Amino acid sequence: MSVSEQLFERAKKVIPGGVNSPVRAFQAVGGNPRFIAQAEGARITDVDGNTYIDYIGSWGPMLLGHNHPAVLEAAVQAAKKGLSFGAGCPAEAEMAELVCRMVPSVELVRMVNSGTEAVMSALRVARGYTGRDKIIKFEGCYHGHCDSMLVKAGSGVMTSGVPDSAGVPEGCAKDTLTAVYNDLESVKGLFDKFPGEIAAVIVEPVAANMGVVTPEEGFLPGLRRICTEEKALLIFDEVITGFRLGPDGAQGYYGVKPDLTTFGKIIGAGMPVGAYGGRREVMEMVAPVGSVYQAGTLSGNPVAMAAGLAQLHILEENPDIYRQMNAMGDDFRAKLRKIVEETGVSCQVTGEGSLSCLFFTKEPVVNYRIAKTSDTEAFGKYFRHMLGRGIYVAPSQFEAIFLSAAHKEADLERTLEAIEEYFRG
Ligand SMILES: *Cc1c(COP(=O)(O)O)cnc(C)c1O
Repeated sequence: MSVSEQLFERAKKVIPGGVNSPVRAFQAVGGNPRFIAQAEGARITDVDGNTYIDYIGSWGPMLLGHNHPAVLEAAVQAAKKGLSFGAGCPAEAEMAELVCRMVPSVELVRMVNSGTEAVMSALRVARGYTGRDKIIKFEGCYHGHCDSMLVKAGSGVMTSGVPDSAGVPEGCAKDTLTAVYNDLESVKGLFDKFPGEIAAVIVEPVAANMGVVTPEEGFLPGLRRICTEEKALLIFDEVITGFRLGPDGAQGYYGVKPDLTTFGKIIGAGMPVGAYGGRREVMEMVAPVGSVYQAGTLSGNPVAMAAGLAQLHILEENPDIYRQMNAMGDDFRAKLRKIVEETGVSCQVTGEGSLSCLFFTKEPVVNYRIAKTSDTEAFGKYFRHMLGRGIYVAPSQFEAIFLSAAHKEADLERTLEAIEEYFRG
């Protein structure tokens, strides 16, 4: 038995499913989850000493690669001064200034400890600000595990939410309306059906939790227009895209300005951090200035702030990183498309910037319904092939291939060769 297998057996006895987040399980692809001993750059090494090219990057945070020396040093130095104070620390002010500088739509920002918390808080602010209860989300978009967001369309576009998860009261889900990604009509339909009741539209500007589905031209500007007309807030959930597509995230990349933005993942550089922010007037709803309560014992934690700041400083000062990484993503997708074409397999290559996806379906993927036509059995086989070749992609069809600044041309070549080998059988 491998050490990973032994650890998994132990973990299963005391952790539900042996994992602390379901996405880490290999349930969808078969096999035993790897336990990771350490990581460096674009490589992770498991407890059995197998090293893989890593295309997960802790699900996004490790934009500069694992164990970046400056990030590591900043965290270590901060830790030496104390792990938590429960009072303000200099790094919090610096972090807030940096976020407001990098993302112009953000005038005030509050730190939290995860993307889930950021979304949950932003929704509360939107409801407090507008005095309305309903929220529109898109089928297939993930916004963390807070009750009201664990909803997809139960019975078509125009219906109210039906919870996806046991334990979510109907009451929590009833104010969640679901629309179809890349379909403005489905959004308009909901505003027509519930006039004056919708507080906000929340969207992943590039959907990266149903595989990667990019916004069609006009979709994001259309959402902006509808929200403005309907006096509802537009919330960009940039937990994945923030500081990834560019220094100002998807909103800068596509030139659309949301009212509120949620951050996570990259902002903490691997430490547990989330943040939400936006227009001053809206964010002034938050306690202790305003009447929307939101708090956190460990929020703005000095070690987490130091790590996040170190990564963001590097990104702010070196915009070339984005050009290089996004160009690498374009190149990767172009070569992957060529392989798909030449081998004649039924696959779609999607993505933007450093986010890519290989869908095992013959239909171009523009929304969740189509994403779900993917052959997950075939994906599982592909996953196991890749793992055997020392390449660690996410153990699910419906996740992104995350590039980092630490990936090298040679890594991508090796990866493309392994994919081609798989397709040629
Ligand atoms: C990961 C993710 C979240 C949740 O963040 P956690 O830190 O896991 O709570 C929310 N929204 C999006 C778009 C995400 O990808």
